[in-house]
Amino acid sequence: MKFYNTFTRNEEDFIPIKERKAFLYTCGPTVYNYAHIGNFRAYIFEDLLRRALKYCGFEVFQVMNLTDIDDKTIKNSAAAGMKLEDYTRKFKDAFFEDIAKLRIEKAEVYPEATAHIPEMIEMIKRLEEKGCAYRGDDGSVYFSIAKFANYGKLARIDMGNQKAGARIKTDEYSKENAADFALWKAWDENDGDVYWESPWCRGRPGWHIECSAMSMKYLGPTFDIHTGGIDNVFPHHEDEIAQSESANDCKFVNYWLHCEHLLVNGQKMSKSLNNFYTLRDLMDKGFHAREIRWVLIGTHYRKKLNFTIDSCEKARKIISGFENFFKRLKYIERKKSAGDDASNICGEALRSFKAGISDDLNVSESLAAVHHLARESNKLLDAGKLGSSGAKNILDAFRDFDKIFDIFDSDAASHDEIPDKIMELMDKRQTARIAKEFSLADHMREQIQSEGWLIDDTPQGPMVFKGLNIQ
Ligand code: AMP
Ligand code: ZN
Repeated sequence: MKFYNTFTRNEEDFIPIKERKAFLYTCGPTVYNYAHIGNFRAYIFEDLLRRALKYCGFEVFQVMNLTDIDDKTIKNSAAAGMKLEDYTRKFKDAFFEDIAKLRIEKAEVYPEATAHIPEMIEMIKRLEEKGCAYRGDDGSVYFSIAKFANYGKLARIDMGNQKAGARIKTDEYSKENAADFALWKAWDENDGDVYWESPWCRGRPGWHIECSAMSMKYLGPTFDIHTGGIDNVFPHHEDEIAQSESANDCKFVNYWLHCEHLLVNGQKMSKSLNNFYTLRDLMDKGFHAREIRWVLIGTHYRKKLNFTIDSCEKARKIISGFENFFKRLKYIERKKSAGDDASNICGEALRSFKAGISDDLNVSESLAAVHHLARESNKLLDAGKLGSSGAKNILDAFRDFDKIFDIFDSDAASHDEIPDKIMELMDKRQTARIAKEFSLADHMREQIQSEGWLIDDTPQGPMVFKGLNIQ
């Protein structure tokens, strides 16, 4: 497999540390609110990565942290008048409900930051012993970026412009004010009853140390792949590298992968711009999570994706087109008839599907292979040439595609609700249309209608519906 490594800005062959194994750390949600679908774009990209690695024969061990203590969780829980753990519990539960709906495969471990404070304190102690950390006036502990020669290498910051000794206490800041950042933050009144005792002062960890300490615990000092949204490159991942490599004296991560943003009208979807949709918002509008998954998965992860309601509607049409296609295939499969076994078109489709996802998760290439197979299969169906073994092979190919996309559900599409008699009339009508025997085709349509079924000729082939008019 090949991945584009943000650290080197190059596409590189994936060589894991342990043969056939891939160890993965994916920055998880800050549970201060419902995740929006911009966040889910990042988690779906990571789901695709995980599934692609497995598809290509790697055993995956994935860690996704839950940030249940940071500036935002404290602020929001206080505003809601709730204890921090009660407040974050609600959003942790919501997160797991949402990822299940979006068919995001579960990681092996979901460590919570509040359950790993001792590990964070240990790491900060090590940094202090090594002379990379120092105490501020209020007892807070800061990482001295001047002590880490490689600081700024991931985000490519020119460190020549930095003011020596400048400090920043907030979790989020921009490249322009790169500075010594907080490892441990001294308690102040805004923190209320949220604090832990430490060798320095009563307080709480900074956001960045959470991921360094938890990845160290579950994946060791060096592991294969670390991911996140592009906004995590700086400062979060830059700071993780500085902390982990200073504490452990070895390389932290071999491959850094970052996904681009989901946009709304050209701007990043975010809570602060109030231009976001949650999965719940979209499901309340009547969309299915599978349609949202389709929209989020369909654009390469390193390209910006502009979200529109229209794209969800398009996804719905495409998915229902596929459902109809699977119904036709199942019917042919059941008929046990001789004909083309579709092995050529299936083999070719599976090869380019795999070539696509192995090449830095090139979904466009993989999806093109899927659509091509559907088009070629429909040609065989329309010409009445597809045999039962061919229908089975095509359905098997879609089962394979679903190991990664998990969208088609070819097995759920059953033709049972459409009687064989109607399917046969559909077939006859189709043969007549191809032979340009239009009056015969019309006659078949009338017969189908007299049985209480309606036909819609879609680009994916004719569909029948019971007693419904679907314009
Ligand atoms: P947060 O909960 O804010 O820490 O964000 C969780 C993940 O979602 C991080 O990896 C972010 O980079 C990612 N993220 C946030 N907003 C977007 C967006 N609009 N598009 C894609 N990823 C995003
Ligand atoms: Zn992180």
